Amino acid sequence: MIFKPKGTKDVLPDQSFKWQFLEDAARSVAEVFNLKEIRTPIFEHTELFQRGVGETTDVVNKEMYTFEDKGGRSVTLKPEGTAGAARLFIENSLVNTPMPAKLFYITPAFRYERPQAGRLREFHQFGIEVFGSSAPEADAEVISAAALFLDKLGITDVQLQINSIGCRICRNEYNKALKDYFRPHLESMCPTCRSRFEKNPLRMLDCKDENCKKIVTGAPKILNYLCEDCKEHFEKVKALLEIHGFEYTVNPDIVRGLDYYTGTVFEFVSTKIGAQGTVCGGGRYDNLLEELGSSSVPAIGFAAGLERLLLLMENTDVKFPEEKKPLIYVAGMDENSRKKAVEIAAGLRKNGVSAETDLMERSVKAQFKYADKLGVKYVAAIGGNELETGVVNIKNMMDGTVSAVNFDNIYLYLKKEL
Ligand code: ATP
Ligand code: MG
Repeated sequence: MIFKPKGTKDVLPDQSFKWQFLEDAARSVAEVFNLKEIRTPIFEHTELFQRGVGETTDVVNKEMYTFEDKGGRSVTLKPEGTAGAARLFIENSLVNTPMPAKLFYITPAFRYERPQAGRLREFHQFGIEVFGSSAPEADAEVISAAALFLDKLGITDVQLQINSIGCRICRNEYNKALKDYFRPHLESMCPTCRSRFEKNPLRMLDCKDENCKKIVTGAPKILNYLCEDCKEHFEKVKALLEIHGFEYTVNPDIVRGLDYYTGTVFEFVSTKIGAQGTVCGGGRYDNLLEELGSSSVPAIGFAAGLERLLLLMENTDVKFPEEKKPLIYVAGMDENSRKKAVEIAAGLRKNGVSAETDLMERSVKAQFKYADKLGVKYVAAIGGNELETGVVNIKNMMDGTVSAVNFDNIYLYLKKEL
């Protein structure tokens, strides 16, 4: 017996309707925001993520699925969607199309993490990226797309937390202040923090080590170091969120796990699914495209973790729409009737009706029992009599009524249900 790899999940046939619900909601949000779908490869050159996500992040340092292919190239299974989207944007010169470029994706992502509730090695994200706009309206629009997505899923139990982590200019000042603060504590901090101290002290704020976390509490706050432009931008974003009617809290501790963020960052957080409560995270990354070799293109986006959302929906009894069932079961009593049943089912399917007929060579009684298990609304049973008259009794299993319908009119009879 071979089992699935640790940290992965199967979607079972009686559960896939939940995934379809999530994906349909994502697509419908994308549609009203005029976001166009992109699909990027599952694997990319490792360097894309090293440069795009950042060498000092947990994702790149510890979590990447990196391997050498048979040609000796280092490739990595995508740990997130933004770097690939940025690469696609640059490589395909989307910068020459009218801006902004509004994109979305639904993708698996891979991170070698310790599997636990809400943390998998293969998980899925719905993400959007808006390239080309530095306006605060873009920040607010991206946040509102995330909010609409959660709303469509029936999720109300989440809190919007926002922060600004500034641009290169303010980050410079802030990094100095962070270093001054952390320097005397450095001895007692974890090795990761010690190595980040020089390279990227901002990352130290994201450390999960208990002792480091305590020290981090007293660190200076980025909001006090924003330059005038960043301050003004953040104020405008907040004012726009109010126009949208969103409640939010400013959480100066949000720095996000990836290096590329600048300016506005945000998370939608739930308290109902344990420690991994962030169901959606995003922000501005105005320097990423430049870092990947493009001209300077401002950008903002988010990614929502679909497994975490599913967990939240299941934990809070959010209602999923009912699973679709076949509309009709066409039973056959003997060999000739079974042929007719196949023909009728085939004709109905061509017309878009979900129809089932026997594949198990069951007795009529067993066919009825199976139809009942399927939960079909209608059952039609063909026998010698029906073959002779060309008329079949269609039974409505919900109210028990029976209608005699000509073989040729079965579709017309069922059409009202489509
Ligand atoms: P966390 O702090 O929870 O590790 P992150 O900062 O690494 O999150 P992002 O890179 O921003 O997460 O990914 C966006 C979203 O993807 C997260 O908010 C979360 O919902 C989901 N996600 C991230 N890592 C995992 C994982 N290993 N398993 C399941 N979902 C994940
Ligand atoms: Mg993480």
